[in-house]
Amino acid sequence: MEIARIVSEQKGSYHMVMGQDHLVGEVTGKLRHSALTRSDYPAVGDYVSVQRLDEQRALIHAILPRKNTFSRKEAGQVVQEQIMATNVDTVFVFAALNQDYNVRKIERMLIFVWESNAMPVVLLSKADLCDTIEQKIEEVRDSAIGVAVHAISAWHKESLDVLQAYRGAGKTIALFGASGVGKSTLTNLLVGNDSMKVNAVRESDARGKHTTTHREMIFLSDGTAIVDMPGMREFQLFDHQEGIHSTFEDIEQLADLCRFANCTHENEPDCAVLQAIEEGRLPSERWMNYRKMQKEVRFMERKISTHERLQEKRQSKGKAKKVRMNLEDFEL
Ligand code: GDP
Ligand code: ZN
Repeated sequence: MEIARIVSEQKGSYHMVMGQDHLVGEVTGKLRHSALTRSDYPAVGDYVSVQRLDEQRALIHAILPRKNTFSRKEAGQVVQEQIMATNVDTVFVFAALNQDYNVRKIERMLIFVWESNAMPVVLLSKADLCDTIEQKIEEVRDSAIGVAVHAISAWHKESLDVLQAYRGAGKTIALFGASGVGKSTLTNLLVGNDSMKVNAVRESDARGKHTTTHREMIFLSDGTAIVDMPGMREFQLFDHQEGIHSTFEDIEQLADLCRFANCTHENEPDCAVLQAIEEGRLPSERWMNYRKMQKEVRFMERKISTHERLQEKRQSKGKAKKVRMNLEDFEL
């Protein structure tokens, strides 16, 4: 057995890299039979143990333990976890410094990243369109305590030098942000003279009769892996209580100071949260955002537990029943 890394997937056919080689393959029947959910199948970023069949083909026997998993909830008849990327070290959280700029959106993206065991880095892109860059950086730093924030512009290449710190052999960077924020432009700039490597990926796609998939891992010449994750439109909350905790640590610390342990921070006496809002120490927008997130997460938790209960029922009856879930949209 050898170790390969999944760079793209399409209809059960996987593209992998192993050293300098590009391989195509499928999972063994055994793996398929033991898989209970979609997340038991390989995903982009997975390290897999493979048995090489020839120059180009390999059989996937097992998935090595994942360091982390970035999934989204797929809106279908049932809640399904769909993995976007695994084994990510750093997530570039993109927000463009144009009229779409909104610090609350950045907070929500950070929640998604926080609990994943990957390091978020906020990239304020299209800095050439903004006159108040320093102010924006400060604003993000204030609401994302401890997270690195950089302003970058594709038109000012020297602004990309700071990204060097996140690169290196064996490092994986995921790009996360709404479509149009400049993710592919940045990828192209980073790839630069490495275009031969990118072509190699494309070529093996053609050979395997696949069109290029959108979730594809690309390697820079220094060995850095880059993977794009879908835009915000598709991004939904899955299981983010932990992430909320890190992003809104200041609020949770305040809540600890309330007189009542079960304070709802609505009208109780000696409520530290209400006091902080009144005194302007806690921006009311930030408080509202926190409430909103809490509500959505609770709602999702109910959905997921309902789904799990139904799943169990189905399995115990041994009969697949169609279950329709009302999936309200959580577009951000
Ligand atoms: P993606 O959807 O996130 O991959 O975004 P793209 O990389 O396709 O970029 C969307 C648009 O923004 C394109 O027209 C780019 O030329 C433009 N763009 C990308 N980076 C910058 C930048 O730094 N400054 C400005 N002004 N425009 C940019
Ligand atoms: Zn309170």
